[in-house]
Amino acid sequence: MSKRLVENSTQNRVVPGDKIAVIEEFLPDETCFEQDGSILSTTTGEVITDLKKHKITVKPIKNLFILKRGDVGVGRVVYVKKQIASVDIHMINDTKVPLPMNSILHVSEASRRFVKNMYEVTRPGDWLKFRIVRKMKPIYISLIGEGLGVVIAQCNHCGHDLEFYRRNALKCPNCSLIQNRITANSFGKLVTSFTRTSQNETR
Ligand SMILES: [Zn+2]
Repeated sequence: MSKRLVENSTQNRVVPGDKIAVIEEFLPDETCFEQDGSILSTTTGEVITDLKKHKITVKPIKNLFILKRGDVGVGRVVYVKKQIASVDIHMINDTKVPLPMNSILHVSEASRRFVKNMYEVTRPGDWLKFRIVRKMKPIYISLIGEGLGVVIAQCNHCGHDLEFYRRNALKCPNCSLIQNRITANSFGKLVTSFTRTSQNETR
């Protein structure tokens, strides 16, 4: 996550590894560290700055997020197997989760129609919009429902952002490969600063 997002966020919430400032501006304390001129958080919490003293700190917050069945979230696919995908939950009901939570998408919850395997549904690195079907660990999510599915994806072949081709098919504008995904009707529209910067970081 970038400084841009921190500024956009009303709560200034960060997770470990988030860039919170540049070293010219602030001196890091034990809740953050310097790397290549940037100050990164080691803590999940809220960023507090003292401009006069050039001090920056992250006030820790616990992961108090309480999930409810039916909550709609946004998450990123970590890995895909034939029957399941592992998805890190980053947002719930438009609020950033302080600490991304891992969840499981089973192939039976990918679509109302029969889907043979998860590789037709999603790939690692995709961003999904989903709903919670099991709120306790292990958390289970579903793509069955209005507006749910893959919202951002990159080409399996060249890594370029994919474009909508037709329902459940995306096309790479770079290498022209057409790839299967279970697409949300909001595909490509959920490009918030959150998903965009997170995408760029992992490239
Ligand atoms: Zn491509």
